[in-house]
Amino acid sequence: IRYSEDKGWHDARITARGSVQMDPASSVLHYAQEIFEGLKAYSRPDGGAALFRPDANARRFNASARRMAMPELPEALFLESIRALVRTDAAWIPQDEDGALYLRPFMFASEVFLGVKPSAEYLYMVIASSVGAYFKGGAPSVSLWVTREYTRAAPGGTGAAKCGGNYATSLIAQAEAIRNGCDQVVFLDAVERRYVEELGGMNIFFVFEDGSMLTPPLTGTILPGITRDSILTLARDLGITVREELYSLEQWRADAESGRLTEAFACGTAAVVTPIGSVKSAEGGFTIGGQSAGPLTQRIRSSLVDIQRGKAADPYGWIQQIL
Ligand code: PMP
Repeated sequence: IRYSEDKGWHDARITARGSVQMDPASSVLHYAQEIFEGLKAYSRPDGGAALFRPDANARRFNASARRMAMPELPEALFLESIRALVRTDAAWIPQDEDGALYLRPFMFASEVFLGVKPSAEYLYMVIASSVGAYFKGGAPSVSLWVTREYTRAAPGGTGAAKCGGNYATSLIAQAEAIRNGCDQVVFLDAVERRYVEELGGMNIFFVFEDGSMLTPPLTGTILPGITRDSILTLARDLGITVREELYSLEQWRADAESGRLTEAFACGTAAVVTPIGSVKSAEGGFTIGGQSAGPLTQRIRSSLVDIQRGKAADPYGWIQQIL
């Protein structure tokens, strides 16, 4: 779907995947005015297919658009673009337990103009791809590297928007994590370099021996994950106390070493809920619990997956059946 200041949104169509021709002066190539979303269509036990909270993705997409000085896409158009592509690509939805059709809506500045100002023209697209389990063989625990050198987002910046630039800044930190023998990077806040924020592509939860949970608050520097939001609802309905509070690396280490912290997990659309087994930083490392999925992590994971896969009732209206 195209956007121009004079015509608004127009020219919606579905075409076979192919290349996009761009002028070298297209403004996105210079100033990175680009946003995206990620969601999945799941096969249903009855043979149909469903989306999980696509309206939440539509709202976050528009929040990202506002931050990046881009036009909002009406929610109905966003949802119809997703539904239309899933119907077209229905044959690509994996029927197995772990598979899904991953959908990637995105929008970028397409005006041919080198001045530094918001573009007057945009292109919105959705592409789809079949995906399997994010981690083969279920959900083994992941190891995290705490980066001291890099931060992901500063107050007033774009941390809460899902824009390509946020990922451009985190690539080097992810590479640092791999170099240090860890699976994923975890970022601390940019001001004090003290509080745990999120991973490169997932939010984080902590579980304590009294059965309560904690996740960092939405201070504007982390992405408001839809999985994070769903887990907050599920956990509270399961009678679990969940605090949204700042949590320092120092406290995390002390709690893990004293046994007060019993589990930690990362969450996001791609890997759903993944236990965190160990944490490493320049000051040394520590492990968490038994290094595999703890009971509360497993409980949260199955409550969520069962709703997504149609194996449990959906009291929240999260599922949108489309086929
Ligand atoms: N944080 C970041 C930086 C992410 O890229 C993602 C993935 N979209 C998440 C958190 C988790 O968000 P969601 O649950 O909506 O996938």
